[in-house]
Amino acid sequence: MFNYNTVSFEDSKKKLHTYKLLEIINSIYRQRQMAIFNQDWNLVDELNFHGQILAEMMLQEDYRKSLHWQERRNSQLTRTSECEFCSRPAEVVHHNKYFGVLFMERLGIDLKSLCHNCHQTQHECINVISGKEIIQTESLKKVN
Ligand SMILES: [Zn+2]
Ligand SMILES: [Zn+2]
Repeated sequence: MFNYNTVSFEDSKKKLHTYKLLEIINSIYRQRQMAIFNQDWNLVDELNFHGQILAEMMLQEDYRKSLHWQERRNSQLTRTSECEFCSRPAEVVHHNKYFGVLFMERLGIDLKSLCHNCHQTQHECINVISGKEIIQTESLKKVN
């Protein structure tokens, strides 16, 4: 499956050097940790809003380096340590969708623990609807 539009969009994003946004998103993450500690939920909402805009601008490979994503990934793998398709040890955390959830992914809802094999199968079966919304194919659950 080769999607020319997706590839050229990712290439364009590379030229924007989105790794430079990493420090900013990490700073927003730390501010959010403080805001959560202080139970300042208005500030948490505001920081989530800003963090999500940044996250959507970043290349996935850069976003994955963020403190936020490392925390989400570890929490998801701790919560569900077995692949949700085949029950082998999970190695990757997969996004059920990207838009509207980045920087505030819910464990087990927006994220899925998978082994490398099932993750690859999952991506081969993903349908891209209107260039943005990503849905998973139900038939995948029969694989393995
Ligand atoms: Zn698996
Ligand atoms: Zn994935």
